[in-house]
Amino acid sequence: MQIQSMHFKARVTDKLADSVLQDNLRKTKSKFVGKRAQAIQELPEFEATREAARAIRDRVLNDLDHWLLAFEQEASRRGATVLWARDGDEVCRLVLEIAARHDCRKVVKSKSMLSEESGLNQALEAAGVVPVETDLGEYILQLNDNEAPSHIIAPVFHKSKEEVSELFARRHGTPRKTDITALAREAREQLRPQFLSADMGISGGNFLIAETGSVALVTNEGNGRMCTTVPRVHVAITGVEKIVPTLEDFATLMRLLPRSATGQSISNYVSLLTGTRGEQESDGARHMYFILVDAGRVDLVHGEFQEMLRCIRCGACMNHCPVYQTVGGHAYGWVYPGPMGSVLTPLFQGLERAIDLPNAATMCNQCGVVCPVKIPLPDLLRKLRTKQIELKLRPWSERMAIRLWAWVAARPALYAWLAARGARYLKWLAGERAYIDMLGIAPGWTSTRAFPAPQGKTFRELHAEQAKAATRGAHH
Ligand code: SF4
Repeated sequence: MQIQSMHFKARVTDKLADSVLQDNLRKTKSKFVGKRAQAIQELPEFEATREAARAIRDRVLNDLDHWLLAFEQEASRRGATVLWARDGDEVCRLVLEIAARHDCRKVVKSKSMLSEESGLNQALEAAGVVPVETDLGEYILQLNDNEAPSHIIAPVFHKSKEEVSELFARRHGTPRKTDITALAREAREQLRPQFLSADMGISGGNFLIAETGSVALVTNEGNGRMCTTVPRVHVAITGVEKIVPTLEDFATLMRLLPRSATGQSISNYVSLLTGTRGEQESDGARHMYFILVDAGRVDLVHGEFQEMLRCIRCGACMNHCPVYQTVGGHAYGWVYPGPMGSVLTPLFQGLERAIDLPNAATMCNQCGVVCPVKIPLPDLLRKLRTKQIELKLRPWSERMAIRLWAWVAARPALYAWLAARGARYLKWLAGERAYIDMLGIAPGWTSTRAFPAPQGKTFRELHAEQAKAATRGAHH
């Protein structure tokens, strides 16, 4: 997928003016936030499970080579072939080689973020292999000229029912429908023959289980099961960090993933795919491949951003982020939006190509509070901001202002004196108009916000007065 993260500010302006998007974003709270809150309330041991999940993810990441080799051994023993890809180009090359080896002309795809990262659909099309997205959201996006997803678990979150209805009527040549069930049925009717005629199924993988060499798929539509059991060939593409040691660890993570993602205690379909189809079995792929992808992940292991690799792609951080709730996913300009995307995109694509993303956060720590694997997202964003300053990627004026601020903040007496004086001068300057934005101070900030002029006494003055009053009261 072409990265557009360097245009974050311009894209934000467009998204703020998009009334359909703004209407849809308002549904984030009822659709995800409320349901998650309800689901975790019903699980008293939710916090303890979060801690256990963090420990499982850290155990794997601290010894990733070991667990990857254990997975490879088990998967191979059960008839699958494990391949390794350094980057997205290598993913595309390996998939095309597999397609050529097994004479595959049509591919049905279940949702895979790594195939988005790699631009796999374009590579398949260029090689004459037809890719068909079968996740309902991804299918809609593919019909709409391969539009990019805007949410990691609800890819068409930005679209209204009316837009989908109009798209289906135009692309399917059917009468316009407004009922969601009827729309879903229409998509199913279109997709069923595709499943039955496909040569290859491509899936992502929510987890890879080292103990059994299995890939776990967690979906609500059942398309993942069709993609991985009907065609002759199944290719699962996942990041190397998706390993969990045992089935029991998988069960622990599954207590958190659906609850954090959609507020369900369990998703509709949880599939564990292990090895190729046996002689006595009536379904399953004859040929099974795993493509385990680095694409920037290995560099993070044992480094200051390793915690980010704990991510289980639940989407809770973006659902609770005031920035995401305001601008939507497309503004972020790459595969991963929201707080997790603001960390992952600079790490995978380069800080200079995602210059504004570490700053696209209010640091309210909602993301850190809801993350089921306890990733300290605000801390990681702050580290990226520090790097931007160190690498001189932010404008000179901003770097000087921060340096000056740090110098003053490290001298409490000077800070107190300046803060008190500064507040008073600003008040005097703003005068009757009462807003310093009218004075043109920090125009990037104040052009769209009313910045209230300082009112009354400073905090320090009030605190000193209260302390004095308290002392007087004690003497009487
Ligand atoms: S960072 Fe945490 S909350 Fe966000 S998607 Fe990943 S696991 Fe979920």
